Amino acid sequence: KKTLRLDKLLSNMGFGTRSEIKKAVKGGKVTVDGSVIKDPGLIVNPDTSIVEFEGERVVYRDVVYWMLNKPQGVVSATEDNRDRTVIDLLKPEDRTLSPFPVGRLDKDTEGLLLLTNDGQLAHDLLSPRKHVPKIYEALVRGDVGKEDADLFAAGVTLDDGYKTMPAELAIVSREQREDGIYSAIVLTIKEGKFHQVKRMFEAAGKKVTYLRRVSMGPLKLDESLPLGGYRGLTDDEIGLLR
Ligand code: URA
Repeated sequence: KKTLRLDKLLSNMGFGTRSEIKKAVKGGKVTVDGSVIKDPGLIVNPDTSIVEFEGERVVYRDVVYWMLNKPQGVVSATEDNRDRTVIDLLKPEDRTLSPFPVGRLDKDTEGLLLLTNDGQLAHDLLSPRKHVPKIYEALVRGDVGKEDADLFAAGVTLDDGYKTMPAELAIVSREQREDGIYSAIVLTIKEGKFHQVKRMFEAAGKKVTYLRRVSMGPLKLDESLPLGGYRGLTDDEIGLLR
């Protein structure tokens, strides 16, 4: 028996600010079960009441799932005193219901980031016991080779003494540049220690110069999203994650 105020329901669904919604309700634009309601504080049960805004049925959801193609220069947080956050990339109406990033990508890392208010799902995806695979594409300064793949497969000891779980390293290409060889790689890790990918390569004496995440568990980055772009997960994607 979930109930909430009519104005709260409408603002959660992105119909405007609380004051805009109050005005709309008082102006007779909202019906509940077919009757015009002018009291924004009316308590409704969104599962059983039929709410319409200017004749349009308001379908209530209390969970939101956004797939973001994170650009560089924004931090994976909901608030920050200095930097723009991934939440700032959402349109104001899409910030309703308070989505937060599931895990973190570094400020200079791009790619797949899930934003949701589904705490249970976030917990499951991040749980160190669940070993959810994450796939990263990187450009690495150095000649990445089979010895690195073997090292990562066996587990590499990071600067703080932590030994990583077996990870799969695929070398895509190598390129000679003015300042040395660069290797394009794909790395799959099943854990998420702080700066893990960068620190794994550091342990191998190489430097990650570009990093982006392309998948997290069953969720794949939608390559049609521009950097900074986002979209709601499809029902299929939500189903895969559950
Ligand atoms: N590993 C890193 O080093 N940085 C990220 O942002 C993600 C994984």
